[in-house]
Amino acid sequence: MFDGDFGNPASSSHVFGWEAEEHVENARVQLAQLIGADPLEIVWTSGATESDNLALKGLAEHYGSGHIVTSAYEHKAVLDTCEYLEKRDVRVTYVEPGSDGLISPKHVEDALEDDTFAVSIMHVNNEIGVLNDVASIGQICRDREVFFHVDGAQSVGKVPVRVEDLKIDMLSISGHKIYGPKGIGALYVRRAASIPLQAIIHGGGHERGLRSGTLATHQIVGIGAAAAICAEELDPEANRLRALRERLWSHLKQMPDVHLNGSDDQRIPGLINVGFGGVDGETLLMALNDVAVSSGSACTSATVEPSYVLRAIGVEDSLASASLRFTVGRFTTEEDVDFAAMRVADVVHTLRERRTSI
Ligand SMILES: *Cc1c(COP(=O)(O)O)cnc(C)c1O
Repeated sequence: MFDGDFGNPASSSHVFGWEAEEHVENARVQLAQLIGADPLEIVWTSGATESDNLALKGLAEHYGSGHIVTSAYEHKAVLDTCEYLEKRDVRVTYVEPGSDGLISPKHVEDALEDDTFAVSIMHVNNEIGVLNDVASIGQICRDREVFFHVDGAQSVGKVPVRVEDLKIDMLSISGHKIYGPKGIGALYVRRAASIPLQAIIHGGGHERGLRSGTLATHQIVGIGAAAAICAEELDPEANRLRALRERLWSHLKQMPDVHLNGSDDQRIPGLINVGFGGVDGETLLMALNDVAVSSGSACTSATVEPSYVLRAIGVEDSLASASLRFTVGRFTTEEDVDFAAMRVADVVHTLRERRTSI
């Protein structure tokens, strides 16, 4: 339908430009509605990675120096940005998650310093699926007049996110994490907060000067439609996914020496991370090539590095390498879950037998 949509949404002198602009603005409303924001508070970016960069570098650019509080198990888009800023004039405190995988609001508060200008804590951790209490952290930030950025790539579209209730000043969103296109995302920027955010990409002054460049009209239409579907199906889909996840876990936990990584109740519906004692992680993953699970760790050709997220929550290295991340989603069925559980049980059993027989 949009193949004929060649206009540039920034071209206001002809009808093709107006039509493109209308599609872009409609998508802005759709995404804003999903998070309870005003459409004027949405800045289109190329994805959550860019949104994280814009939020943190954009504030650091304004302040020049000072302090940021984040956590040790953020996505690399936040961690690498913080590391980059540390080479400038910014100091960073990395709060450690607890063994339940959650960030304690009290620990964030204790980390604040006089010149802290930003706190950045992810809503849901992408490897273990735990859901942080961002509303409490947000309240602390409001009381202390510190800007609060949240990486919401794993929470938006999966659990209810209302930016005002959660006291969020900036929220990173990714298109492909909500069944939309890749290469598109957004940063919510709270207007009432008067955030002195500076652009990191300069040019024609699009997106109220915060992100120059011709808008990716087709992808924006896609993320808008994806947001509308998520908003409509959020509750029933969450219930369905929670049931599937519980079904999977009830199969897996019948085996001995099986561990759920992270809190068992404060989490999103569709993701669990499970450690299997007494097996080699790499062999486990290789043997499961017909099940789409991931280790959540950086694989190089020769070795599997245990995940920094699991390390941060205190999982010992051998169990961390033998941990698998299971996700159930919009297209997962009960049969898929039963098949995956059966394959995992077979493989884990075989590997353990082989070990004891050597
Ligand atoms: C996927 C993800 C990102 C990166 O999103 P892109 O849109 O791929 O750039 C950032 N943070 C978290 C928590 C993610 O899960």
